[in-house]
Amino acid sequence: MVNKIIKLGTEYHVCEACDMTYKEEEIAKKCEDWCNKNHSCNIEIIKHAVKK
Ligand SMILES: [Zn+2]
Repeated sequence: MVNKIIKLGTEYHVCEACDMTYKEEEIAKKCEDWCNKNHSCNIEIIKHAVKK
């Protein structure tokens, strides 16, 4: 389940598996799917992550 957080008025989506934060819900979902299936992170996905 992708978590939604709001920080300074901006909405972010957090992958529960790896704790990466994304602005786009789509990418957060992709990340979580990948993490759950592969038990590793996809560099093509996590490059979209934002720093907390
Ligand atoms: Zn992830």
